[in-house]
Parts: sequence; C-alpha cells; structure tokens
Amino acid sequence: RADIKGGVDGNEEANQKKRLKSVVKSAYERLLEDRKSLPIYPEKERLLKAIEDNQILVIVAETGSGKTTQIPQYLHEAGYTKHGKIGVTQPRRVAAMSVAARVSREMGVKLGQQVGYSIRFEDRSCEKTVIKYMTDGMLLREILGEPDLASYTVVMVDEAHERSLSTDIVFSLVKDIAKVRPDLKVLISSATMDAQKFSEYFDSAPIIDIPGRRFPVEIHYTEAPEADYMDAAIVRALQIHVTEPQGDGDILIFFTGQEEIETAEEFLKQRTRGFGSKIPELIICPIYANLPTELQAKIFQPTPDGARKVVLATNIAETSLTIDGIKYVIDPGFVKLKSYNPRTGMESLQITAISKASANQRAGRSGRTGPGKCYRLYTEDYYLNDLCDNTVPEIQRTNLANVALSLKSLGIDDLVEFDFMDPPSSQALLKALELLFALNALNKFGELTKLGRQMAEFPLDPMLSKMIVASNIYKCSEEIVSIAAMLSVGGSIFYRPKNKKVHADNAHQNFHVGNVGDHIAMLNVYNGWKETEFSTQWCYDNFIQERSMKRARDIRDQLKGIMERLDIELTSNLGDLGAIKKAITAGYFPNSAKFQMDRSYRTIKNAQTVYIHPSSGLAEVLPRYVVYNELVDTSKEYMRQVSEIKREWLVEIAPHYYQLKDVEDLASRKMPRGEGLSSKH
Ligand code: ADP
Ligand code: MG
Repeated sequence: RADIKGGVDGNEEANQKKRLKSVVKSAYERLLEDRKSLPIYPEKERLLKAIEDNQILVIVAETGSGKTTQIPQYLHEAGYTKHGKIGVTQPRRVAAMSVAARVSREMGVKLGQQVGYSIRFEDRSCEKTVIKYMTDGMLLREILGEPDLASYTVVMVDEAHERSLSTDIVFSLVKDIAKVRPDLKVLISSATMDAQKFSEYFDSAPIIDIPGRRFPVEIHYTEAPEADYMDAAIVRALQIHVTEPQGDGDILIFFTGQEEIETAEEFLKQRTRGFGSKIPELIICPIYANLPTELQAKIFQPTPDGARKVVLATNIAETSLTIDGIKYVIDPGFVKLKSYNPRTGMESLQITAISKASANQRAGRSGRTGPGKCYRLYTEDYYLNDLCDNTVPEIQRTNLANVALSLKSLGIDDLVEFDFMDPPSSQALLKALELLFALNALNKFGELTKLGRQMAEFPLDPMLSKMIVASNIYKCSEEIVSIAAMLSVGGSIFYRPKNKKVHADNAHQNFHVGNVGDHIAMLNVYNGWKETEFSTQWCYDNFIQERSMKRARDIRDQLKGIMERLDIELTSNLGDLGAIKKAITAGYFPNSAKFQMDRSYRTIKNAQTVYIHPSSGLAEVLPRYVVYNELVDTSKEYMRQVSEIKREWLVEIAPHYYQLKDVEDLASRKMPRGEGLSSKH
C-alpha cells in the first residue's frame, strides 16, 4: 500500500513539475515573442553581417528598439562568446542592473551566471559570465587592470549619446585598444543623436541605422510659465487620469531627483486618497538611482486592467530604460546636472533647464506603442528660444581630477594631447593636475607618485582616496575607512519619516553629541550598529536606514581589501577625534571654508560664499573653520558633510597649498578685540 501511495505521490510530483515547467516555458516563450516583435529583430542578419565586416560600428536606433538587450544576445548566439566575453557599458547603475536582469530572464539563466553586471562596489558576474553589463566607469577600471581588454571579444559602448564623462574617456581608450586588438569588435550604440559625430571620431566607422517605429506624439505647451512645476505636474497627471479613457495608457513624469520624486509620491497619494473609490486605481512607481533593487522591478510590472500607472522618474527614463505602455509624458523641463567652474575648481549639482534634444527624447517616450501625448510644463516660446540644442557633454562641466588620475596611472602622461571627442578646457585640465599635485598624487614633474599610485587603486574620488591613504599617518585607518564607506553609500543613512520627524531628529541627535561634525557622526552610527552586531532592531530604534548600513558594511569590506593589498596598516585610534579629523583634512583640505557673517562661509582658496546645509549637525553650531565633502546648489551653495577643523592644520597638512596669510582670520584682524564674532576657540 505504502508503495502504491508513494507511486501516486511520485506521479503527482512529476506532473506538478511538468506543469511548472510548462508555465516556466511559456513565460520564456512569451519573452521570445516579445523579442521577435522588437524593431531590431528583422535587422538581425544585416546587423551581424555589418559587425562581421567592420571592426568598429556605430549603431543608431530609437530608444526601445532593442539595442541594449538584443544585440549582445545576437552576438552570443552567433558565437562571439566562444573565446571571450561581451562587455556592454551603461552610464547609469540602475540601467546596468535592470537590463542585466531582463536579459538573464530572456535567456532563461540565473543573473550573475552567463549574464551578469558590474557596478561600483557590486559585482554580480563570475568566470562563466559571457554577457557583462557594467557602468562605463567600471570598464575604465577594467582597462586599468587589463589594458588590452584581452578577456573581451566585443565591447559595446551603449547610450553613447549620453556623453557621460567615463563614456567619453572609454571612447578614446577603446579606439586605441582596437588598433592593437584587430580581433576586438567595438560597437558604439546610441539613440538617434550624434551618429555622424561618432562615426567621424572613429575614423569614419560605418553607421548602421535601425528603422524604429514611432507613433505621432501630440505636444502641449503651457500658455504661461509655471511658477511651481511640482504642483503643475501633479495636477496634470490627475487630470489625465480622471479625464482620459480608463486604463488606456500610463503616465511618465520626469523629475530631477529622489527628493522631488518622494515629494511627488506623497502629494499624489494624498490627493488620490481624497478621491477615494470615485476614480480608477492609480499605481505610483518611483524610479531613481538609489531606489532599492527590489523596488526597481515594480516599474516594469504590467498595469492591471482598469488601473493606470504613473511613473515618477529621473532622467533615467529618458533613454536608458524603456517602460512599456507609456502614453502620456509630463515634462517639467528640468534635470539635475553637475556643473563645474574651472576658474575656482568648484563643482556642484544644479537643477538646470534641459536641452531641446532631451525634450524631444522625453516626448518620444509617449509614442512607442501607439499615439501619445506630451505635456510640456513650459511655453512654446521658451522651448524655441531658451533651450539649448544639446546638453553639454559631462567632460566639459565636471572636475577632471579623477579621470586625470586614472589616465596618469594608465601611463598617459600628456593629457593635453589626449584624443578627446570634445576636449575639456585647458583650464579644467590644469585645475585637475593642480589638485592632484596638491594632494601629492603627482610630483612637480607631473609624474604619479607612490601615493598617487595607491590612490588610483581605489574606485573613489581622489580626495576620498587620499583621506584613506593618509589615515595611515594618523593611525586611524579603521575609523577613516568606516567614514569613507559611509560617504560612498549613495542613499541616505538617516531615516526621517514625515510623521515622526521629531522622534527621528531626537534619535539622530545622539550621534552628534559634542558637535563632533558630520563625519564623526557617521562613524558613530557605523560603530553603534557594529556594537550591536549589526542589529536590525538597532537601526529601527535609531531611525537609521538598515539597507544603507548593509551597503556601507559591504563597501567597507571592499575598501579594506584594497588597503590590505596596498599594505596600508589597519589601526584604530577612536579616542583621538583630532587625529581622525586631521586625516579627513588631509584629503579634503582643498574644500575648506571660513566663517564669515550671518550664516555664511567663504571658501578659503577661492573666496566663494557658501553655507552649511541645514541637514548638517553643524548647521546651528557654525564653527569658524570647516572642511566639507561636496557642494550642492539648490537655492544657495550648500556644503554637505561638514567637519570642524583648526586653521593651523591647513598649513601643517598642506603647506604647499595654503600659506598662513590665506588662513588668517580676517574677522579678528579687522575688528577690535571683543567685537569679533563669537567663536568656540
Ligand atoms: P534600446 O536599448 O534600443 O533602447 P532595450 O533593449 O533597452 O532598447 O529595450 C527593448 C525592450 O525590452 C523594451 O521595449 C522593453 O519592452 C524591454 N525591456 C528592456 N529592459 C527591460 C526591463 N528591465 N524589464 C522589462 N522589460 C525590459
Ligand atoms: Mg538601451
């Protein structure tokens, strides 16, 4: 009896497996059908032939045609992965992750095996990986370790039109590598922009144009400029949702960053709640760089019947990610961009008007699967007369110290002669070299020093890697590497829910006791968490984002690995906060500022007026001398991550950069004693 029963159960199990398999198989088949319906599919043979016949090829197709997801698979099927792998670069982390996940599903393999991705501090690839998506910055680092890219048979520089800094550098490096590796295929793929320019740069490489399909898009402008684009966008979205036919298509709104997106999400929730069940369901899907991976997949889930999805996206949805089913685009006309002043060497993030090319890409997202509508929250006159044609390439609006250090460590000595597609100003190059010299990464002949070589090993900004390497001198590398990891997390560490702000602020205050500054506060958070053996409850009690902490721990391990490789001793000096702050200053001394008046500061090197960001633990303390990590420009130039320093340190740590007269206290010199500004010293 038992046998019979067992037999039946066994059969049942087998049947179940079979059923499961058929479900899985049909999902796979469905994906296969999707793949065959993409505009690139009928061009497959022509494309493969062109790749076979040419070493370098420029591929142009409308966003959503299948460039990123399909071409690597075609190449894999055609045998290009027999003796090496295909590397595909993306300017954005989220795109690399998301596309790799999609392609692994299309191929029916586990992510991280044949198909993987590699982004800074996160490598989901292995020896088996043959299709590797990665950020352009990661390819740069791979070239540092493997100058001829020997393990690759194909490099696809994707999203070339984005002209990110690393993509521009990769262009020049792969152009050189192609000369010594005749077997290497180089594909430059781009949305329908700039193709001619790419071709010219790559010695007249042929252009293959994939005909896309694009449905007509109705463009609507506002009659008058909008005073508040957030409000205008929300109102417009709700209007579409309520007045357009139920479930006829989804909405995509472009915002400039996480904060805006979170605000918009809050507003939308409030207002739809007000409508109750009187309106169809509106599903809100945010997408931005630091959105946790598990939430990213939500934007791709099909919208249930009768409901409508509203995707709140940064520029990532402009060309990097294609979301099916979008019929309405709302474009406020702004983007957050880095801007750099080569005269002062100061870099900041700014909310900037988009270019015409961007506006047209954004509009195009609504007409991919049928006729669409795009609501521009600006006037037609503004579009025609005020927007630039194209976005300035990042290389011309960024600090180049990082790139200069990488190129120097690749043995490229003369940066002025480097083959840039669009060269940066010589002033910006000079500033970068000056900074590296100030940090002692270069000697006076412009050669990489031992210190510089060590710094280049870290996938970090030069000031941050200098801080780490210098921590050795102050015997506090354990603490500094924790701070460096916390600074590199990307997402926010302090959790501040809207309805519990006071509780959260009180909890956070504990980390700032003694006005230790933002860096030490971060260290306190990390150590506090570590003491409880990385407890979830501790994060919860202290309003700390556990996800960010886990990432910090992971980054810390990786940074420690590099330090061990470089023989940088790990020592702890927790009792001496002065030593820790000195190590911070050893990296960040170029970012020093002196208290001025009211609440303003002046940067010591360039006399720019700046302020302490309101979220800083020192925002109310206003110490006389500070160093900061970065400047963000919202309404004012704000310093973020601020620590108090002593002015003597600047001269002591960077005597070649600061002289005593630079750091002399103007206030106390000009004012009679007693009337000087109150100070803690
Ligand atoms: P392109 O690179 O030409 O812009 P992609 O290869 O990125 O085009 O996208 C092709 C199609 O694959 C898209 O239209 C979309 O339907 C689908 N797709 C791409 N990425 C994802 C993803 N992460 N999740 C679900 N579908 C995706
Ligand atoms: Mg793409």
